[in-house]
Amino acid sequence: MHELSIAANILDIVLNEISSGNYKRITGLDIIIGDLSGVVGDNVKYYFEMLSRDTPAWDATMTFEYKKSKFRCNSCEKIYERDSFSILCPYCNSGGTVVESYTSLYIESIEVE
Ligand SMILES: [Zn+2]
Repeated sequence: MHELSIAANILDIVLNEISSGNYKRITGLDIIIGDLSGVVGDNVKYYFEMLSRDTPAWDATMTFEYKKSKFRCNSCEKIYERDSFSILCPYCNSGGTVVESYTSLYIESIEVE
């Protein structure tokens, strides 16, 4: 359940943004989630909506984009993306080595009014 603290962090960041600029409210949030972060966007959204009640971010539209980690196959050397169920090479079913990993979540952009 670390989505609760993630949602709290996001809220801190966007509320800071509001008070440092001269903005009335947050209208949108684009968030990027790495597939190896273990974070579920829907859970973050759920907690964010709960925590942001009575703040200028309460009706922000959240969109999530998932970044997929990339692997290089140890036997055929093709580059492939990890799918949800397997990290094996989809071409030959061998194991692979991670070449690009996305393990974190970050805020891509904030829309304000
Ligand atoms: Zn392969």
